[in-house]
Amino acid sequence: MSDKIWLSSPHMGGRELNYIHEAFDANWVAPLGPNVNGFEEDLEEFLNADVKVAALSAGTAALHLALIECGVGYGDEVICQSMTFSASANPISYQGAIPVFIDSERDTWNMCPIALRDAISDRIAKGKKPKAIIVVHLYGMPAKMEEILTIANEFDIPVLEDAAEALGSTYKGKACGTFGRFGVLSFNGNKIITTSGGGALVCHSQEDKDKAVFLSTQARDDAPHYQHSHIGYNYRMSNICAGIGRGQMEVLAHRVEARRAMTDFYVNLFSSCPGVKVFIEPSEDFYSNHWLAAITIEPIEAGITREELRLALLEFNIESRPLWKPMHLQPVFEETPYYGSNIAEDLFDKGLCLPSGSNLTDEERIRIKTAIEQVFSK
Ligand SMILES: *Cc1c(COP(=O)(O)O)cnc(C)c1O
Repeated sequence: MSDKIWLSSPHMGGRELNYIHEAFDANWVAPLGPNVNGFEEDLEEFLNADVKVAALSAGTAALHLALIECGVGYGDEVICQSMTFSASANPISYQGAIPVFIDSERDTWNMCPIALRDAISDRIAKGKKPKAIIVVHLYGMPAKMEEILTIANEFDIPVLEDAAEALGSTYKGKACGTFGRFGVLSFNGNKIITTSGGGALVCHSQEDKDKAVFLSTQARDDAPHYQHSHIGYNYRMSNICAGIGRGQMEVLAHRVEARRAMTDFYVNLFSSCPGVKVFIEPSEDFYSNHWLAAITIEPIEAGITREELRLALLEFNIESRPLWKPMHLQPVFEETPYYGSNIAEDLFDKGLCLPSGSNLTDEERIRIKTAIEQVFSK
């Protein structure tokens, strides 16, 4: 059988090892060093929005620190998009706070501004104003940031932008990750670029960045001995991982191009399949890195369910995966409040992510095309 075609696998640019060698030569094998600073500068330049970036051990760590910097604590409520990876919501629980989940809207699959407004008004009426709003750019698709920020500003609630999947995406020409009070990036192995594991917090002041770095390095006070006035974390990125990141930044633009070409490939491929819709931008305002290409399948029109298609592709040794299962449907968040209707749930029932790697070969694309044509001709 041919090799497995993966959804999204690491794709090195070629110069990553040079940065790692430099780190070894100078013995900067630690959670600090020139690659960490260099990677942060590369990201700041790429985001092009006068931001300060703190490189961390994971996107999840970045979200956790963002919540701490927004003062989220025990018993507070934090609004969060329901349709997302669990890592968007888990840090709320780390803080002993309570997530309030919000439905998606059809255009972007991201947080529905109408449900957001309902939720804020209702939580305030029930006696508690939410402490923060976590909005996600799912699969690289920018959320409706203008509408969301308007509501957030009206109620004076900070927005945390989970741009873990959206490095290289823009909304109205501005980089995702730079809209909120804080932005979160991830360089996990499956993301558009990787440091094997890592993340970053996008800040809008040196003070906010310094605080994140302080907390991420065990919150050491300025003293010759180890002295602590705060609880700290071990969340800083290592100089070795940052070396991989610097190499990856050199090819990021190409990675975005290649991922976007994969979505074009699927638009073409499914154009003759009734009931199948490829997830694309609703208007020119949105520019997605198309980290993962995704489709929705209307089972009656298409004559197949998303689960049947997933299993059929598996027979061809091709990986695909249902969309993120909404958080309000997860057993671990059973008891939490939810606002909206059934859009996220419907997307979950009908949606499938398809192989999207920037390293897929022409041969692999032909295998995907042949497999899908065979499945749909039955
Ligand atoms: C990957 C991801 C994260 C977490 O990033 P890690 O670096 O893996 O901790 C958070 N949110 C979303 C939406 C993600 O896809």
